[in-house]
Formats: sequence, C-alpha cells, structure tokens
Amino acid sequence: MITHCPKDDLLLSYSAGALGESWSLAVGSHVQMSKEARDDVALGEKIGGSLLGDIAPIPLEKSLDIVLDRLGDQEHIGGAVEPQQDALIPSPLCDYIGDSLEDLDWSKVGNGITQHLIETSDSGQARLLRIPPGTALPEHEHSGRELTLVISGGYSDDSGSYSRGDMADIDDGLGHQPIADEGEDCICLIVTDTPVKFKGILPRILQPFIRI
Ligand code: ZN
Repeated sequence: MITHCPKDDLLLSYSAGALGESWSLAVGSHVQMSKEARDDVALGEKIGGSLLGDIAPIPLEKSLDIVLDRLGDQEHIGGAVEPQQDALIPSPLCDYIGDSLEDLDWSKVGNGITQHLIETSDSGQARLLRIPPGTALPEHEHSGRELTLVISGGYSDDSGSYSRGDMADIDDGLGHQPIADEGEDCICLIVTDTPVKFKGILPRILQPFIRI
C-alpha cells in the first residue's frame, strides 16, 4: 500500500504537462503505481479542462462555481493514466531503461551502492540508485528539490518508511540518511535539481566523480 505521495503542486504541474522531462519521468512513474495519485492527476486534468473551456472573462468565484458544478456532473474521476501495478518497471521508466534492471550499466558509488544515470533534456538529474540490504547512504542535505521513487525493496529515514511505489518529495533543506531495508536491494529512481550536500569528508571528495 502506497503511503507517501508527492506534494500537490507537483501533481498539478504534471496534470498540466508543465514539468521538465526528468520530473515528469519520476512523477509519471509514481502515478502509474498509485491509484490515489492517478485520481489526483485526473482531477487536475478535469479542472484544467473546465477552466480552459471558460475563455470569456468572468469573476473568479463564478468560474470556480462552474468548475465545481461540472465536476459534480461527472460520476467517475480517475483513469487518466492506465494502472500497471504488476510490472516491476513502470512504463515511463521503461521508455528510458528497457524492461530489465539487471541488464543496465551500474557504476560503483561506494559502500556497495551502485547507480545508473538517466539522460534527460532538462536541468534535473535523474538516476537509479541500488542500495544493498541494510546499507546506509551518506548523511546529506538538500538545497533544492529531491524526488525519490521506490521501484523495489524499501528504505527508512527520519521522515518514515518507504516501500515500492512510495515517493519522497523533499524540498525543505533538511538533512537525512536513508537506510535500505533488510532482505533485498533497494532500487530507487531519484531526481534532483542541485547537487546534495554531504556531511562526511569522503563523500564530498568523491562527489564530482559520482555526479551526485
Ligand atoms: Zn536525499
């Protein structure tokens, strides 16, 4: 069961097709794995569509009434993105890496952790991170936004426990140290807009080489 979703601004921007490529990849993958997120996106699309239908200038309160009326007429909300809960790799991610995690080039990051960088056209950096069971990432802080979508396995940090389909949406500058659950590798899709700030000296030295 999915308990962590991205913030509303991100889902609404996704609905409006306003996200950059890397962010859209992460949010679209999460949306495919989460019925709640699919419903939110479908609602955003309906609101956007209704507002676009009201080209003539009318007072904002009246415009909102019209949108709510129209939404009330629609029995079913959802289904804008086809669910695909059974496939390991959600299809937006499949478009970039194919359908096998094992066949990818995984480069070493240190401490048994490996990554696969995903090229996108926007300024966000997308990567897959593979963390061995029970292994901790170096403690770090963020000066920008970081999305983490769990593809398999799970991890925990101060903010909670995350398992397959969950998305962590961090933009508060707080530090954290994710630790992979025991039992299997944790594989996550991560998108960042600025380099993270590591607290330890060794990760800071390695940072230019591993492009985190
Ligand atoms: Zn982080």
